[in-house]
Amino acid sequence: MPTVAGVSVRTGVQLTGVQQTLIRAVAYYPNLPQVYVTSGLRDTSDYHGRGWAADFGFGGVGRTTSPRGVAFAQWMWQYRNYFLEFIHRNAFNRSQRWVKLRPGRTASESLLLAHENHIHLAATPESLALLLQHLERQARVVPLPPPAPIPAPTDSLPTAIHFLRG
Ligand SMILES: [Zn+2]
Repeated sequence: MPTVAGVSVRTGVQLTGVQQTLIRAVAYYPNLPQVYVTSGLRDTSDYHGRGWAADFGFGGVGRTTSPRGVAFAQWMWQYRNYFLEFIHRNAFNRSQRWVKLRPGRTASESLLLAHENHIHLAATPESLALLLQHLERQARVVPLPPPAPIPAPTDSLPTAIHFLRG
């Protein structure tokens, strides 16, 4: 499979520059090998047709949502404010859903059912630029150094105690 920023892309999927940027953001997902692009640019009157949406699969059979999908949705959901649309539902626990839709689009049963085997994400180019900045900044945060070792006792300590006792 071809890749974008290390993310596998199903053969034949066409991607605009905006969709490739979206994939670059997804590339920050820590369990990346479990996610791949299943759809990009399509001839439809939605954000896929506009070149702003991409679909991500995560293995599993048919509509079966694997724990991989849930884990990916949970991680991605923390960045939901950057997305115009975010759609996924856990097929094994249908009360568990991650849904954000553009105004006017409703979370119908058929829409949710169609998004149990993948996650749909859509964002504007401007918002994706901000999301990438956010993710890059987070990635640059250097972990704190380990605490300094506790100094070994020195000879002067017993002397000091002796002095205090005296
Ligand atoms: Zn989609």
